[in-house]
Amino acid sequence: MHCIQTLITAATLTVALLSSAFAHAEDAGESEQTVRFAVINTSGTNTLDALSYSGGSWFSKVRMSYVAFLVDHPKGRFLFDTGLGRNIKQQYQADMPLWMRPAFKYDSVKPVRDQLEANHQTLPNQIILSHTHWDHASGVADFPNAEVWALPEEHAYIAEGNVMPSQFANPDLRWHEYTLTDTPWRNYKKSLDLYGDGSVVLVDQGGHTPGSVGLYLRTSSGSEYLLCGDTLWRARALERAAPKSWVARWLVDDDTVATQERVNQLAEFSRQYPDVVIVPAHDTEVLDQLGYFPSWLE
Ligand SMILES: [Zn+2]
Repeated sequence: MHCIQTLITAATLTVALLSSAFAHAEDAGESEQTVRFAVINTSGTNTLDALSYSGGSWFSKVRMSYVAFLVDHPKGRFLFDTGLGRNIKQQYQADMPLWMRPAFKYDSVKPVRDQLEANHQTLPNQIILSHTHWDHASGVADFPNAEVWALPEEHAYIAEGNVMPSQFANPDLRWHEYTLTDTPWRNYKKSLDLYGDGSVVLVDQGGHTPGSVGLYLRTSSGSEYLLCGDTLWRARALERAAPKSWVARWLVDDDTVATQERVNQLAEFSRQYPDVVIVPAHDTEVLDQLGYFPSWLE
């Protein structure tokens, strides 16, 4: 009896705590005490399953989403990627080569900035890009006051003309070049523990682009996620360490050999840490399970 009462009291207390934390987050428009993140869905496109990973079906279609992740930590708020932004139409017209357009489409767009404003959220003043391809960086221009974090290798990649110039045309864009440290993190040789408490850690994903990074998140509830950018397009391919389709690899991977090494590393990570949810940037199958902003993963 005592046990049951204790349990009920504990459960009531937990519910009260949770609802007060939730109410607080709703009231303040942001979290001050928790580590949490939200998936902000800005657009997407439908493609053949077989194009998204090697071994996929040629007879079924799959949704690829273009998302941003809004991350809150007691010490800061930042965007990891930006999805498609307010100027995507002009950017696409200006910079997407005609021959690539059939392969890279998008449908209706809900820019991150519009969604944040509609929900009365404090705008982040930091953006960390998983990499600088068009579908991840389009929204950068919508946050002129934000510092945009990129590794030196990625910065050089931009200078070589591998990305959409119109997305980075603002001369006042505040680039912040940072480096990963040689401190190993799990099975990664290079990492950066952003706030020093192990809850938000950047890891090296160089391959898809030279300065690609992944982001590990441990939210306040203890749930763990690894956002792996475009190293993989489908989490279901991990079990076989299967890459993107050969067409996709040819079109989008800067270094296909290095990208495959990253896929193998992710597969190994997934075997060692099965509780960590692997989240490829475009994998709607996984993203749907997480749910979308304005709901949060805490
Ligand atoms: Zn992408």
